[in-house]
Amino acid sequence: MKRVYNFSAGPSMLPEPVLRRAAEEMLDYKGSGQSVMEMSHRSKIFEDIIQSVESLLRSVMNIPDNYKVLFLQGGASTQFAMVPLNLMSRSKKADYVLTGQWATKAYKEAARYGEVNVVASSKDKTFTYIPKLDPATFTKDADYFYICMNNTIYGTMYHTLPETGDVPLVADVSSCILSQPIDVTKFGLLFAGAQKNMGPAGLTVVIIREDLIGKAMDITPIMLNYKTHADNGSMFNTPPCYSIYMCGLVLDWLKNTIGGLEEMEKINRKKAGILYDFLDNSKLFHGTVVKEDRSLMNIPFVTGDEAMDKKFIAAAEENGFVNLKGHRTVGGMRASLYNAMPVEGVEKLVDFMAKFEKENA
Ligand SMILES: *Cc1c(COP(=O)(O)O)cnc(C)c1O
Repeated sequence: MKRVYNFSAGPSMLPEPVLRRAAEEMLDYKGSGQSVMEMSHRSKIFEDIIQSVESLLRSVMNIPDNYKVLFLQGGASTQFAMVPLNLMSRSKKADYVLTGQWATKAYKEAARYGEVNVVASSKDKTFTYIPKLDPATFTKDADYFYICMNNTIYGTMYHTLPETGDVPLVADVSSCILSQPIDVTKFGLLFAGAQKNMGPAGLTVVIIREDLIGKAMDITPIMLNYKTHADNGSMFNTPPCYSIYMCGLVLDWLKNTIGGLEEMEKINRKKAGILYDFLDNSKLFHGTVVKEDRSLMNIPFVTGDEAMDKKFIAAAEENGFVNLKGHRTVGGMRASLYNAMPVEGVEKLVDFMAKFEKENA
């Protein structure tokens, strides 16, 4: 059997012990004689699974009781519409900060439903930084304030959150959820597509403060109303059962093998530090992001020469370092160092980069 180091931005690596356990339980989950893929979502055995996944997530993320956890489908992209449909119903105003493609897509969707104010944007420099925010420019009566916390494509992250007072802060945390502790009480709503740090694609997790549920616009489709899913324990219709189960295995690993989010953060800081230190000292490779806004999860870098980038990506792939090609809008390379990437994977990548640099000096 061969396993590569997979630096994909998503879907991405899963912890090997998680995959092994899933394989072990594939044909006969806990003596049920069925795979989790085959069971009725209304069965007692699946009910136990979804409940235990929710309580694991609550314990790992320290989610307060006045927040609901929803297991949905449609990807993070469906949240771009669900957020305004559900929240933009009083003043019909919302503030957005444009820090990349995902935030911009969310903004465009919201603009179809109300008055959307762009508080700041970093488009002027290809989204290589997080704009400084001045609360004086925020809309006082906005229904919510929206950020994309970690910008998967550009490799930036908010290291301090905007102070939005009574206006609920909404964040797309698809590519940073579970990478370090996060104070859920600072947010009205958090959402994430699972395929970066939580499990396989197909599951979208929403964490929403209870008082924000039940205010949706009249035009909101039933399936896009948070209340529908909150009232039905995420079982209004068939949930993404297998992805939920896999997310549970990932959370179990995170809690019991890694030791929780504080420990995960230490490992993630170590991994990112190894690559950033190398980039800061390399003559061939350069990081593209302003230092203070660097992401721990997604690290874009370039040589400044497209042909050299191509040569590097091909050579890396041959040596078992795959999916290092940067996003098509940025070019160059991007290494995504999600939770499941072992420290050893980053050490070996950096050794390989050093060797490549020497050979191509
Ligand atoms: C991957 C990603 C998305 C898109 O997720 P889908 O589940 O494919 O819709 C949105 N936002 C961020 C920050 C992402 O990393």
